[in-house]
Amino acid sequence: MNKNKVIRSQQLRFMVYTLIAFTILFGIFGTIIFGQIQTTLYAKTDSDLIASERMLETGGERGKDPFRDKYGFPAAKGRWPFNPRVIPLLWSDGKIVNAEQIGIITFNHYFSEMSFDPATVGAISSLTVQGKYHFRTVSIPYPAAEGTYVQLLVNVDPEQNLIDNFKRIIIVCSVVFILLSITASYILSRKMMKPIIRSWDKQVEFVENASHELRTPLTIIQNKLELLQTMPEKRIIDTFENIALSLSETRRLSRMTADLLTLARADSTETQLEKQTIELDEFVNSVCGPYQEIAELSEKRMSLNLSSNTRLKADPERLHQLLVILLDNALKYTGEHDGIRISTYAKDNKAFIEVSDTGIGISEEGLSRIFDRFYREDRARSREQGGSGLGLSIAQWIVHSHHGTIQALHNEPKGVVFRIKLPKQ
Ligand code: ADP
Repeated sequence: MNKNKVIRSQQLRFMVYTLIAFTILFGIFGTIIFGQIQTTLYAKTDSDLIASERMLETGGERGKDPFRDKYGFPAAKGRWPFNPRVIPLLWSDGKIVNAEQIGIITFNHYFSEMSFDPATVGAISSLTVQGKYHFRTVSIPYPAAEGTYVQLLVNVDPEQNLIDNFKRIIIVCSVVFILLSITASYILSRKMMKPIIRSWDKQVEFVENASHELRTPLTIIQNKLELLQTMPEKRIIDTFENIALSLSETRRLSRMTADLLTLARADSTETQLEKQTIELDEFVNSVCGPYQEIAELSEKRMSLNLSSNTRLKADPERLHQLLVILLDNALKYTGEHDGIRISTYAKDNKAFIEVSDTGIGISEEGLSRIFDRFYREDRARSREQGGSGLGLSIAQWIVHSHHGTIQALHNEPKGVVFRIKLPKQ
């Protein structure tokens, strides 16, 4: 599938998910705050209503029933037990029967058109009169007369005003926030896509390089075998060169596929390290032993300076593989009479392993790319030496999986130093 298309649709998906997450979070946040403000604002009016309701049920503070004298004017007689904010409406046969008590002007202006629903009795609710006046209200049956109800009302226009204002602010903020979250989601989704694009490119490059590298030996083997097929009468000894070359390419192929498998497993974090406690100096000494003999045979000086006195927790098989890669390279890229030096030391609670040589060295650009898969300074020469450019990538993976670092530096006056830093046990 087209890479850009896949990336764009994935980025869009990330963006939508992030936007949904932002919107849900803000929605929850806004609803909680809104609900909290509404409850707080209505808390005082509701408690006034409940207090008045209780007074009515118990006969009031001074045992006075405001409706006792047949819906008269108890307030005028100084017997009004209610909070002045609370307006009591007395309903009988669906009509308000205490219009004088609450004031004729108030009654005509606000309550004359009102109706009463006995189903609402007992619960505090909100009520809007004439579409613009807001009240909190509760109704109770009037204990002194059957079929009569007292409806208590508290005007909450100032509170409603505040709530409406707040609602407006929340809506404006939501719009601004959604616009901001679209931008934030876009930026975040781009950031999230970056490592995916990088690993996609790496993967494509890896597969391209791998198939290219595998094709070369396969082509050589195929050519040689086809050549052998054309001369069936010849003896093996006469075609020895072709057979030897095919064999060497086969070995190369099998080494490369093993390396590719190691890296593929490393990428999928499938490989488990089996760590043990290792005496570093002793371990390095034992790995270097055979290499010292090879160096001597090819007239190279190999010296060891092992003074770390350190124990490490490491996978011995992997550590061995790491040293072999570096020693192999040191031998491959040095000439006669060159020196190879392996040293270990401890510093700042870390163990160091250094493999340095006075060989052909690495260019400035090479130093920064040396650990890339399939990178080789001199392809022809490296191929001649049997190299595929995967060794140092595996070395780097081994060091990283032991929580260490590996660096390649110029050696003085020539050659390369590979410095490995590992945490001590
Ligand atoms: P290869 O199998 O080609 O040696 P590596 O990953 O081990 O692959 O090394 C990558 C490249 O780094 C080599 O092709 C070589 O150019 C360079 N290199 C590695 N070690 C040394 C060294 N000790 N001296 C000079 N060049 C080196």
